[in-house]
Amino acid sequence: MSSTMPNGISERAIAVAESVTLAITAKAAALRADGEHVIGFGVGQPDFPTPDVIIRAAVEAVFDPSNHKYSATAGLAELRAAIAAKTFRDSGYEVEPEQVVITNGGKHAVFTTCQVLLNPGDEVLLPAPYWVTYPEAVVLAGGIPIVVETDDTAGYRVTVQQLEAARTENTKMLIFTSPSNPTGAVYPVDELRAIGKWAFEHDIWVMTDEIYEHLVYGDSTFASLPAEVPELADRTVVVNGVAKTYAMTGWRVGWLIGPEQVTRAAVRLQSHMTSNVGNISQRAALAAVTGPLDSVAEMRTVYDRRRLLIHRLLNDIDGVTCPEPQGAFYAFASMCGLLGREIANRKVVSTVELASIVLDEVQVAFVPGEAFGAPGYARFSFALADEDITEGLSRLAALLG
Ligand code: PMP
Repeated sequence: MSSTMPNGISERAIAVAESVTLAITAKAAALRADGEHVIGFGVGQPDFPTPDVIIRAAVEAVFDPSNHKYSATAGLAELRAAIAAKTFRDSGYEVEPEQVVITNGGKHAVFTTCQVLLNPGDEVLLPAPYWVTYPEAVVLAGGIPIVVETDDTAGYRVTVQQLEAARTENTKMLIFTSPSNPTGAVYPVDELRAIGKWAFEHDIWVMTDEIYEHLVYGDSTFASLPAEVPELADRTVVVNGVAKTYAMTGWRVGWLIGPEQVTRAAVRLQSHMTSNVGNISQRAALAAVTGPLDSVAEMRTVYDRRRLLIHRLLNDIDGVTCPEPQGAFYAFASMCGLLGREIANRKVVSTVELASIVLDEVQVAFVPGEAFGAPGYARFSFALADEDITEGLSRLAALLG
């Protein structure tokens, strides 16, 4: 195998798993193109339009010739300063603008963080269920993902004891996500502090993904690791972006915040890989992070209603159990009670198989847990209209009932 692969593709590229999320989305899109009314619980993006005030800032920016040229690789100075201010406003973490690097979405910030911090053989603790991109970004940097499993009975939250049991002398980094994609789990502040203190004690870096910071419900509150455990700040990289909070997934603006040696290295990499993020998008992001949070609050109210709806409807289905999501816009259900059953004359051997049967039979798309390191489970996004949630889950109930 090596460079003699007949199709010329590198081992590195071949080793990247195809995203199960995208595979399901593509199949659903093909069915839609054939005129089917597919209900998609698959995609992880807001169904709201980007707020007008942000769009207006982008329109103005298009007509400003200074935005038509290359700009600083690390991002527009105003945007870096605004993100430093916003970070303090939203999480109480005080940082300098020089610690902020603007990236092509949060995903790029995850990739860059791994490239900057990992050497071949470094182990990265990855609580599962995890967001699909993390293990790929770790492996592409030569790191080794060490999966630490959690389940619905533990609210999908990892404990210090579990992390300690997985730690070795090669442990370099922990990937921490709260609120979580795919589970909707939100760590209470005492658990978060305990994890931060443990990481500090053992010299472990933490990449903390805060992209869902504003989407928390009920009694849950968002807390930021480096704000709660300030001594860890020197070994923490915060990943964030405008995609989820401001319904801006297509604008591609994210950022990372880290100690200055990390941000300098990130800028060096970025200067050869992508250069600056599109200036129009950066101007739009500037309007977003400096603007009021009222449209965010409105969207959150709607998500909250849908969250309670989907939680109730999923648990009404025989064989499905789902803890109440605390954050983000995902319900993560155990489908273990359905495995081994026969549905539409097909034996359900896995949740991948189940997702395929459900899409074929009742045109409902969800993402099987295998994508997140959690076979037997399934992720349902609730970023879709209430009527679609009701319709989709009644189709599912009818098929499974
Ligand atoms: N982190 C998490 C946990 C996510 O769910 C996503 C989007 N699915 C991202 C980062 C990246 O978002 P984007 O690249 O669109 O900013």
